[in-house]
Amino acid sequence: MKLPASIDFVERGWLSANMVLLGGDLRGPLVVDTGYVTHAPQSLALVAQHLARAGHEAPRALLNTHLHSDHCGGNGALQARHGSPVWMPPGEFEAAKAWDESRLSFDDTGQQCARFVPHEQLLPGQQIEHGPCRWDVHAAPGHDPASVILFEPRQGILISADALWEKGFGIVFPELAPGPALGAAFTEVERTLDLIQALQPALVLPGHGAQFTETRTALMEARSRLAYFRAEPIRHALHAAKALVMYHLLEWRERSWEALGTWIESTPVQQRLRALAGAPDESMDAQAWTRTLVESLCKSGQLQVDAQTVRLKQQA
Ligand SMILES: [Zn+2]
Repeated sequence: MKLPASIDFVERGWLSANMVLLGGDLRGPLVVDTGYVTHAPQSLALVAQHLARAGHEAPRALLNTHLHSDHCGGNGALQARHGSPVWMPPGEFEAAKAWDESRLSFDDTGQQCARFVPHEQLLPGQQIEHGPCRWDVHAAPGHDPASVILFEPRQGILISADALWEKGFGIVFPELAPGPALGAAFTEVERTLDLIQALQPALVLPGHGAQFTETRTALMEARSRLAYFRAEPIRHALHAAKALVMYHLLEWRERSWEALGTWIESTPVQQRLRALAGAPDESMDAQAWTRTLVESLCKSGQLQVDAQTVRLKQQA
């Protein structure tokens, strides 16, 4: 199936989550997710292009599927330019309103986000009438407890955020929260996959990577990945630690060993991951942990190093 002409799906690099622009409504487009803060100029340009083509002045609203830095980093700039309201899931609504960084994820993951003002909550069960479409809001906990996904039942289009990608799903962050990991969030990932299976989407617009129609294959792959993590949760912790280092390098392109080590040491989630995945090896101090992660990412061809620096591997 093809995407209707009124919908723009913008696949972006991994630092910024994909953006979906839902047109076809006289009130202006809905912009679903706005990228990472350092890509805000690109997010502004993408929205401006869509507005010019559709003959609109401003978006009707900015929607966030969840409040990770790669999904809401352009909110501040878009709000400043267009005065658009932000709709977001209820879980972190009050924290975002007060901009209480201790209750938002950015400090914990060592990432950045520009402040914005949320206006309305996207409540699971709610329906959003927009142009020819009706988008159902579904709760999709697992990757993030507050995340929602959006489904258009008549056309069978799912905006799946980080709950389902063509290959896998996002880090299961609640499993990395302070305190003992209990596996409860893995069960939520499974329930969310069950929900997506029941919706039977004909086309999925994921938070990262390409759009896809082979939902069955993607679900099978996600379930086998989940089983692999569940069998040995340390695998998930190690995967998360490496994914967060890669994300940091996507932001910086290149860092000295010292700066990377300092970042890892001062980032709370990385400290918990060292305790989870580096234990019980007592020699695993922050420096040794940094080297372990970087070596593994070099082996898989994602990073390259010399005596002073760690950088993204240049693609040939
Ligand atoms: Zn996310």
